[in-house]
Amino acid sequence: MKTSLLGFLFIVLIAGCSPTEKNNSGKLQVVTTTGMLYDAVINIAKDKVAAQALMGPGVDPHLYKATQGDLSKLNQADLIIYNGLLLEGKMGDILQKLGRVKSVYAAAENIPQNQLLSSVQYENAYDPHIWFDVNMWKGAVGRISEVLQKVDSTNAEFYASNTTKYLKRLDSLHAYVDSTIATIPKQQRILVTAHDAFRYFGRAYNIRVEGLQGISTVSDFGLRDIAQITDLIIENKVKAIFVETSVSDRAIKAVMQGCNERGHNVTIGGYLYSDAMGEFGTPEGTYVGMVERNVQTITESLK
Ligand SMILES: [Zn+2]
Repeated sequence: MKTSLLGFLFIVLIAGCSPTEKNNSGKLQVVTTTGMLYDAVINIAKDKVAAQALMGPGVDPHLYKATQGDLSKLNQADLIIYNGLLLEGKMGDILQKLGRVKSVYAAAENIPQNQLLSSVQYENAYDPHIWFDVNMWKGAVGRISEVLQKVDSTNAEFYASNTTKYLKRLDSLHAYVDSTIATIPKQQRILVTAHDAFRYFGRAYNIRVEGLQGISTVSDFGLRDIAQITDLIIENKVKAIFVETSVSDRAIKAVMQGCNERGHNVTIGGYLYSDAMGEFGTPEGTYVGMVERNVQTITESLK
């Protein structure tokens, strides 16, 4: 029953859509999965496109399933951009099917394999959290720009010039993250979070990262994970650990309790934006703002 319903929905989905047809407003309809991708599209294309993200603030992309409303948005889209590297684990089939009938691109697809970290959870897979190394994210932004220029060639020059400016902004963001994290004394530079979203961040900015739940939030944490992390925190006298806006804070609170019971006071350093940005219209509702806020939260709590 489930399969036939899906099949039916898919037929509805592909009926009446042509690959690069523009809607009534004349603007290219772009649908992205995450907010970070949406933000990249807006910085490149400004008001030349009508863009929307399926996953808003606080939404976990690893667990996200397309709703009926999403199917209709995807159906109407001229261009669909997703992260790739299995971040959108539950949307793989839909994205693949849509790719046969319209323009569907993964932002991560041109990032050289030797820059990617292997998944610690899944065999033959890579860590999808590429937005936490600003330099690596520049590669994704460049790919999105190429795709926009190809699909909407009339505005290609406009997109190219905005991209050049935005990439410069990302260069200064990278330098800011680098110099700010470096102000935390080396032995205190340990970032403990609920799930392993920050490995690229750790590699790029020289901070040790430990996540409770692995790269995806699909599998749950166990008591052993909690015991291991608790030992690590006590051993290294870690002052603060972090919760994430898109992951339940249950695990991190259990770790905090475990440390406190063993006489080591560790505090919650604050919320980090890991797999979702903040509310649209706030500084954290942009990629640059989310990264800056994370860096401030981490630095203030660990110093
Ligand atoms: Zn994640």
